[in-house]
Amino acid sequence: MRANTQARPRCAFCGDFMPFWPPGAPATTCTSCRRPLILFPASLRHARYRILSVVDVAKVILLPVVGGAVVAFGLARMTPLAFANVVSIALLVWGTIDVWDGTSGLESGIDRVRRKIRSDRTAKRISIAKTLFGGASIALGAVGLLMMS
Ligand SMILES: [Zn+2]
Repeated sequence: MRANTQARPRCAFCGDFMPFWPPGAPATTCTSCRRPLILFPASLRHARYRILSVVDVAKVILLPVVGGAVVAFGLARMTPLAFANVVSIALLVWGTIDVWDGTSGLESGIDRVRRKIRSDRTAKRISIAKTLFGGASIALGAVGLLMMS
């Protein structure tokens, strides 16, 4: 009995049901919104998985990293150079996620800001904005890293 094949896979980003999950694949893209999705083991004893949205997971991981760096810098446990490096790398990663999110939104016409999912003309405009801001973040992060080296 395979638990994962019993229920239809559902996108963690837009909430749409997908026709199927590619057998054996650890990651795929949503058929509706085109966002990247990964399988995360929900149980160590059973072959049961949760579907997670890469865009959301990356942001959840990134926030405490940047927050931790800010706190460490504030407590003078971190040199300004090391802090600038963390911020530059965070900008690069954040920019990449936003560009990925934005271009997926342009491709699919589906966008989500917080819990609100859109599939109208505003979704396209938000996707364009995300792509542009993401590109700007990447450029800023890259300039930061180049200045540091
Ligand atoms: Zn989706």
